[in-house]
This record gives sequence, C-alpha cells and structure tokens, in this order.
Amino acid sequence: MNLGLDEEQAAVRRLARDFVQREIAPHVVAWDRAEEVDRGIVKKLGEVGFLGLTVAEEYGGSSGDHLSYCLVTEELGRGDSSVRGIVSVSLGLVAKTIAAWGSEEQKRRWLPGLTAGEYVGCFGLTEPGTGSDAGNLTTRAVRDGDEYVVNGSKMFITNGTWADVVLLFARSTDAPGHKGVSAFLVPTDTPGLTRRTVHGKLGLRGQATAELVLEDVRVPASAMLGAEGKGFSVAMSALAKGRMSVAAGCVGIAQAALDAAVGYAGEREQFGRPIAHHQLVQELISDIAVDVDAARLLTWRVADLIDRGEPFAVESSKAKLFASEAAVRAANNALQVFGGYGYIDEYPVGKLLRDARVMTLYEGTSQIQKLLIGRALTGVSAF
Ligand code: FAD
Repeated sequence: MNLGLDEEQAAVRRLARDFVQREIAPHVVAWDRAEEVDRGIVKKLGEVGFLGLTVAEEYGGSSGDHLSYCLVTEELGRGDSSVRGIVSVSLGLVAKTIAAWGSEEQKRRWLPGLTAGEYVGCFGLTEPGTGSDAGNLTTRAVRDGDEYVVNGSKMFITNGTWADVVLLFARSTDAPGHKGVSAFLVPTDTPGLTRRTVHGKLGLRGQATAELVLEDVRVPASAMLGAEGKGFSVAMSALAKGRMSVAAGCVGIAQAALDAAVGYAGEREQFGRPIAHHQLVQELISDIAVDVDAARLLTWRVADLIDRGEPFAVESSKAKLFASEAAVRAANNALQVFGGYGYIDEYPVGKLLRDARVMTLYEGTSQIQKLLIGRALTGVSAF
C-alpha cells in the first residue's frame, strides 16, 4: 500500500481545507449555539463536488476514489462534525447506496439532485424501540395493488428535518427477523409522513436530527430499492462503507484536537514558561498524536481495500471502533491541555469532545463493532 497521496488526492485535500476555512470555520460556534447549521451549506457542498465523490459522472458525481472521499470527510470533520454528517449521510449512506442498488430509473430520479446538493437524503433505519437490533424493526409496509402502505416511526434520523428523500427500511413480508425487511425511497413530502426535530443533543447540535412518523404513507412499488426482503442487506452494505466515513470524520476531530492542543500549549504560560515545557502536558499531546496516526492509517486502509475491490467490512468496523474511541480520547486530552478554558465554547475543544461522543454510538455502537469483529474472527455470532 502506498501511504502517500497522489497529486489529485493532495489537490482534493487542499480544496477541502480551503472550503472549511472559508465556508465553515467562521460560523462553527454560532451554528453550534443556534442548534442549526445554515442550510445554504448543502448547495455549496454540492457546487464544490463533495456530495458526488465516488458517484459516476453520468449521475452528477466525479467518479473519485475512496481515499479522496476520506480526505474530504476528514477535513469536514476537522471543521465541523455537523456539516461532515450531512455529507456522510446524504452522499455516504443514501446516494452511494442508490448508486449500488438502484434501478436506472431510481438513479436518474435521485442521484443528480443529491450530488448537486439540491436534495438532501436521510437514512431511516433506527426506531424508538430498535437500535442495535435493527433487524427486528417494526415499521410495516403492506402491499395494496401497485403501492405499499407504510406505518411506523424512525428515531434519531440525521438530516431528517431537512431531507427531501428518506431511504426507509420497513417490514414488507412475514419472514422472520431481518429477512422480512425491504428498503424504499420515500420523498419526505409524501402525505402521512411527519417529522419532529430532536432537540437537546449533547453534540452535533447544528445537525438536523429528527424523528419521522409514518401514518398510512402510500409508496409506489417502484420505490423499493433492491429486491423484496433484501432491505437488511441494503442497510448493512450502506453501513459497511458508512463506518469508514464516520472513522474519517473521527480522524478529523482528533486532528483538530491535536492542532488546538499544540497551539495552546505554546502560548499559555504557567510556572513562568509555556505549558508545552511541562512533561505531563507533552504526554497529553503525544497521546493525541498517536491516536491521530493510528486512526488515520486504519481508515485509509479501508479506502484502499474498497478501491482495490477487496472485502472491507470487518476492517471498516475496526477503523470505526478505534477512530471513534480515539476521537473521544483525543478531544478529552486536548480539553485537559486547555484547562478551564477548554470548558467554555469560545475555545474549540469542548465542542470536539461533545461531537466525538456520538461516534461511539451511531452506525453501530462500539459494543456492536466488537461483536462484528469477534464474529468474523471466531465464526460464532454472539448477537
Ligand atoms: P441500544 O441498541 O438500545 O443500545 C443500548 C446499549 O446496549 C448500548 O451500549 C449498546 O452497545 C448495548 N447493546 C445493545 N445490544 C447489545 C449486544 N447484543 N451486546 C452488547 N451490548 C449491546 N439511525 C439511523 O437509522 N439513521 C441516522 O441517520 C441516525 N443518526 C443518528 C444521529 C444521532 C445524533 C444519534 C444519537 C443516533 C443516530 N442514529 C441513526 C441511531 C443510532 O444508530 C442508534 O442510536 C444506535 O444504533 C444505538 O441504538 P440505540 O440508541 O437504540 O441503543
């Protein structure tokens, strides 16, 4: 594996850095306090091409490689995880899944708008009663002529308040467990679909997280993504790549924590010299640095495997598990370097810690990643 970047990848990273400096960094504190990212950022993300990475050009994408996708995701995560999440979900979980599983008609209907940032996508798997055990979801889709009638609810849906389309998972047959689940592409303005913003989140406050309620929502049979009963496979394939994207976002958080800690340690003086002179402060900084490198290498390996067409799902779980825990540690160590100033939101590290915390929970908790890795190694499912 070549651990360096080629010219194109380096240019993509520079583009992402400049974008974050110009369009995101000046607003991060205000968006966090207001509990809302400016929705105009979606169009800008589309214009710069970040919502079409890895999607084929004929559908509005740039056919880029997965390492470039990781580099952009890392830079966005370094700037603001709420914005990073828009891309990880609208592109990573929705557009890429339509590209992989969709009919030609579905691709033409949704991909150009999603990649341009004209549409926002959301991923509706989790329900109030089923999170980790997603295969036992209870939202029902009952066939009625050429349509399905959907009833149920979805919880904690990223982009949910803004989204134009939800990739929705519902039980459409009586087959037991995940075998009865199918995937549907449902426009969010379909009658009977209502949404409620989830307020009071610890982190990712700028992100439009919603609860979706579906009451007799009529969906044409042609909106099914993949075959009937294959919905769980659709979801798991989306999450296998999605976990790489979360891991890349975590690398960004950890890198931001490192930059902030090094900068502050050089400026802040205690006991007559900058705190960087104190060995225990250097320990905090070096621990962050090792976490950054280890998380980045695990994440890049997943991108490399995908681009070479090799199996990557278990490596993606390892990267997500390690990088999410590393991001929490890194942000916490950086907060320690900042002392009391780390605890107020004029300084960046408190937000990094709040934003990092959810990474160990969504797209499979750390415990679920360990069960996935353990199952692959032992051949025994401990779910
Ligand atoms: P539970 O499944 O109830 O888990 C509770 C605890 O039990 C956890 O510690 C878990 O690890 C542990 N546990 C459960 N089962 C086992 C087991 N077999 N062995 C060991 N431990 C176990 N979902 C979507 O579908 N789309 C989204 O866009 C989305 N975005 C989100 C955004 C945010 C901000 C948040 C907070 C969540 C989001 N989620 C989304 C939901 C997220 O994926 C779930 O919260 C997550 O899968 C965990 O489910 P749960 O919250 O129901 O916890």
